[in-house]
Amino acid sequence: MIDKFSIIIIGSGPAGVATALNLYRQNPNLARETLLLEKAVHPREKICGGGLSGNTEMLLEELGIELSIPFVPINHLRLNNGHGTIDLPQGCFNKIVRRSQFDSMLADEVRKKKISLNEREPAIKVERCGDGVIVTTARETYRARVVVGADGVYSMLRNVEGFVKRNSLARLFEIDIPADSQQSIQFQQYVGLVDLSLVSKGMKGYIWELPCYIDGKPFLNIGIMDSNLERKTRVDLKAVFSDALKKRGIDLSQYRLKGHPERPFSPNDVFAIQNMLLVGDAAGIDPCFGEGISQSLEYGKIAAEAIVRAFEDHDFSFASYRSEIFKQRLGKEQEMYRFMSWLFYGPRWRFWLSFLWNSRVVQTLLAESYGGKRALHKQKLKIAFLAFYHFFFHYGKSLRIVNSRTEKGDHNEPEAGGLGSLRQKGVNSNA
Ligand SMILES: Cc1cc2nc3c(=O)[nH]c(=O)nc-3n(C[C@H](O)[C@H](O)[C@H](O)COP(=O)(O)OP(=O)(O)OC[C@H]3O[C@@H](n4cnc5c(N)ncnc54)[C@H](O)[C@@H]3O)c2cc1C
Repeated sequence: MIDKFSIIIIGSGPAGVATALNLYRQNPNLARETLLLEKAVHPREKICGGGLSGNTEMLLEELGIELSIPFVPINHLRLNNGHGTIDLPQGCFNKIVRRSQFDSMLADEVRKKKISLNEREPAIKVERCGDGVIVTTARETYRARVVVGADGVYSMLRNVEGFVKRNSLARLFEIDIPADSQQSIQFQQYVGLVDLSLVSKGMKGYIWELPCYIDGKPFLNIGIMDSNLERKTRVDLKAVFSDALKKRGIDLSQYRLKGHPERPFSPNDVFAIQNMLLVGDAAGIDPCFGEGISQSLEYGKIAAEAIVRAFEDHDFSFASYRSEIFKQRLGKEQEMYRFMSWLFYGPRWRFWLSFLWNSRVVQTLLAESYGGKRALHKQKLKIAFLAFYHFFFHYGKSLRIVNSRTEKGDHNEPEAGGLGSLRQKGVNSNA
């Protein structure tokens, strides 16, 4: 049994690495007593759109990490509701990377700081023993004071008694298709496309189209996310994706379909028990748009603070980890995104998407929240006031316009009638 490590982090994705690097910033001695266990070998494949939000970039900067890998810059995210498009203000999502390269770059940062990282060593069992934990891997048995579950959406640590086993997950699929960078608007305008029109067909999510480079060649990463957790009312996601791709002239059967779930953040979860904490996908991420990299980096920061405090106070209950998550930006914004997911994908989606389409202020707030510049939860009152204003002065009018145009057959998606003002059929220019 090896007992030279005080802290064991299971998983070396963004959440695991952020925990280790934040430990290093706060207490280098503790970082030296930390071991990251990784079942794969970097660079390993990770199914992901690779969108880095402004918030992700700010958090990387805090850790002193410069992006040293290829990326495609993004000027705007262009949202489409089936009737028209809006461009979210710049700064929301700025860069698209390949996750294999990004995560490998992060793992290099850990190695540079001389923090132990054992690849090809999956953790297979975790059990409490006295005042610590025993972690069994395929190779060794370790004894430590703290174990961090940074092992992704299928976290094995969550199976330990005391955590909440929540098997209902958001579903995502993606494909990579070769692109002509001279022809595709994604490369020409450096724009990421977000198609929300399927909300009108009962889907709680969207389709994205992001430009990226794979082995130096231009590709489009096209994916679909459905955050509906209720099995009974779920759409057949593969069929919906195939259909949507057909409308874009793409035959799904010609490409490798990759699927991976996400765990939407839930306030009902348990985030820590005695000696053990969860971070990143293992804990829960953005329930609305499925962003998870910045959340993983934020979890890492909060977890490192909690671990340093635990060693100082000799108290490994991690009783305040949960309240720290909810006190800080991470928890407050995730609660807002959870609420937003209910608004945009819930029974009143027509109104809320129409609201988003018509309010440049709300578009800016959303972009600034993902950009890390402003917190959406601090703007609740302003948003509520704007929503009332939209309800009384815009919504009815825009519905009347849509209805009259629907009668004339003058729209793209009849099922999505009622969305937004048709003034904005082109790129948004609203006030
Ligand atoms: C299709 C898709 C598209 C996405 N697009 C975006 C996007 O554009 N932008 C964004 O911000 N987020 C996106 N996300 C979310 C993002 O990918 C995740 O939230 C993020 O990867 C979570 O990081 P993590 O470190 O918690 O987990 P992971 O990145 O999954 O890392 C977990 C690590 O743990 C290792 N591991 C697992 N089990 C064990 C074990 N037993 N022992 C040792 N090691 C283990 C794994 O090999 C892995 O390296 C997307 C997700 C999906 C599914």
